[in-house]
Amino acid sequence: MTATGATVAESSPAYFDLTGATAKARANDAATARFERIEASQQREVQATAAQARVLEAARIARTAERQAVAKKRALAAALKKAEAERKAREKWLLPIKGATFTSGFGWRWGRMHEGNDFATPVGTRIGSMSTGTVIFAGVEGGYGNKVEIEYWDGTVSVFGHMSEIDVVVGQRLAPGDLVGLSGNTGHSTGPHLHLEIHPDGGAAIDPAPWLHNHGLQ
Ligand SMILES: [Zn+2]
Repeated sequence: MTATGATVAESSPAYFDLTGATAKARANDAATARFERIEASQQREVQATAAQARVLEAARIARTAERQAVAKKRALAAALKKAEAERKAREKWLLPIKGATFTSGFGWRWGRMHEGNDFATPVGTRIGSMSTGTVIFAGVEGGYGNKVEIEYWDGTVSVFGHMSEIDVVVGQRLAPGDLVGLSGNTGHSTGPHLHLEIHPDGGAAIDPAPWLHNHGLQ
């Protein structure tokens, strides 16, 4: 029922309505109802649009969060990869000289212990650090002549003997391959060569040959 009293008018026979007021009222009511239907439909549409917008916004936020999570994961993976590459570079092992000839091994020789391996090489051959480490001795010492000791990152100590030139000082930090000095024939030496000793954890010398092999060097 409407404000115009259409329901009451509907119940009256049309032929008593001489002015056509009933018909007008009915038309009015129909227009009002139509208008209300349209209004309700528009409201539903607006609500549906708003609901859809909320869903889209939630999806957008979820996608952004997902992208950020993926980016974070990628950044972390890249950082780990970089750190691993840096660690590998830092812990890389190298032979101290290139193109040398192995001439004498570890063990008893001429009545005394030979605590390293000898590599014949011309005087002046570049000697490099075998890995990342710190110089713990650099100077002349008896039969070794010019000698350099380097303590590496894993505690291993290398000894280079009979050098013609020392280019490092005690306490100096070295990266794999950094210049240590030049090979020579100083001290008790029967010919130009590099005397190499390997002391695991700075303890007693071991045979360098298997150690070099285990470190992928020979
Ligand atoms: Zn030697």
